[in-house]
Amino acid sequence: LPAPDGVTTRLTVNSPDQMQELGRRLAKLLRPGDLVMLTGELGAGKTTLTRGLGEGLGVRGAVTSPTFVIARVHPPLGDGPPLVHVDAYRLGGGLDEMEDLDLDVSLTDSVIVVEWGEGKVEELTEERLHVFIHRTVGTASSPVATPGPPETDEVRHVVLRGVGERWVSVDLSVLSA
Ligand code: ADP
Ligand code: MG
Repeated sequence: LPAPDGVTTRLTVNSPDQMQELGRRLAKLLRPGDLVMLTGELGAGKTTLTRGLGEGLGVRGAVTSPTFVIARVHPPLGDGPPLVHVDAYRLGGGLDEMEDLDLDVSLTDSVIVVEWGEGKVEELTEERLHVFIHRTVGTASSPVATPGPPETDEVRHVVLRGVGERWVSVDLSVLSA
């Protein structure tokens, strides 16, 4: 039998500050070995969310887009896990290449956040948390893409969906409180 999945949680996020706050709260639900996959177009807020995750985990170093380095390791300031922030856009083949990156850290001891990882990093673990960030206006049933580059405070629709046993008992709805 395939591993059961967690429930889907939907949130509305109205500003970059709120997105960062969501990251700080989500960090409290994470533990070493967790893989978080962020999906959303350029400017959706993936890096902003990851910045909050880094704050919540209490890690060293500024969280910025790892586009050119592919992956950046943020060591813990205290006794929490390191944060490994990956931009998989230029990774061709998934797991092998992730291991080839020679990150000086054990992935099973880290929280791994991957942008642009669809179809590339699922094999890292059967259990993962998907975070979809939609830069849309309109209703859920008839979304309209927000035109142009992002402005200061725009609405984002965030959908969280845990895959695998790990996420069945995690109550992601606390994130909307
Ligand atoms: P990505 O990593 O998905 O490309 P970033 O986090 O780098 O996106 O950038 C998001 C951009 O959108 C920033 O310029 C930010 O100020 C803007 N923005 C506006 N509204 C929001 C919101 N509700 N949540 C996140 N970012 C927002
Ligand atoms: Mg980014």
